[in-house]
Amino acid sequence: MLIDCHTHLWRQSEHLSDEFLADANRMREEPIDIDVTPDKHWQAMEPVDRCIVFGFRAAHSGIDVPDELIAGYANAHPEKVVGFMSIDPTRDNVEEEIERRMAMGLRGIKVGPIYQNFRPMHEHAQPMWRKAEKLGLPFTVHQGTTFTRVSPLKYANPIQLEDVALAYPEVRMVIAHLGHPWELETIVLIRKQPNIYADLSALWYRPWQLYNSLRLAYEYGVTHKLFFGTDFPVASVEDSINGLREIPALARRANLPEIPEELVEGIIYRDTLSLLGLH
Ligand SMILES: [Zn+2]
Repeated sequence: MLIDCHTHLWRQSEHLSDEFLADANRMREEPIDIDVTPDKHWQAMEPVDRCIVFGFRAAHSGIDVPDELIAGYANAHPEKVVGFMSIDPTRDNVEEEIERRMAMGLRGIKVGPIYQNFRPMHEHAQPMWRKAEKLGLPFTVHQGTTFTRVSPLKYANPIQLEDVALAYPEVRMVIAHLGHPWELETIVLIRKQPNIYADLSALWYRPWQLYNSLRLAYEYGVTHKLFFGTDFPVASVEDSINGLREIPALARRANLPEIPEELVEGIIYRDTLSLLGLH
């Protein structure tokens, strides 16, 4: 079973601010088109069996995707698509908004403290963790850096999730992008905390960093907690799989300590949804 646990659905002109797009394009040599219609998403997910899709609401960083769009799309393809809601604990009446979005059919929560400008254990965020623990809703947490200038790095280190895990131990969460550039912190955290996992989306195009991260995860014995994801539209399924498979080959060519191929295949075909309590 091939599961993409990290994909986006949003309309570039309607849901992303000019400042967000300018910051995104500043990172690239050529402007990128990150507009995603439901049709475009559906076509991009053709190679996978299942996928998780989210919008995201982070007014602080210029992102505001209505969850109705995500729910409408996920509900049209229940056999394949799992929709996650977005909660912004700095603005929402959290409990009410979680219940409203669950009623829409959304089955997990996407948050990003760096984008939404909150400390993970801030008092405003606690009702969210508490409610999700009670309801068994898993999280994708963008805990790591980003390109938007206004988004505070001080809230972004994965270590900040340790206090959340200790206070709300049943909450299952996936740290996006292995918490880059704090992959080491993510690895030691997922080793200690049974319900924290991490995805490898959008890391393959920094192969040296990914090699080192995978090798470290192997040495710490946590590769069974790593998930496959693309971060579509940032990367395609095919490029992401090829990029991951390239890492063991890179190690061989450079005569570096090995990354076993079966380890990479195990990540690509991980039964992510079951581990998150989703089916
Ligand atoms: Zn993403």
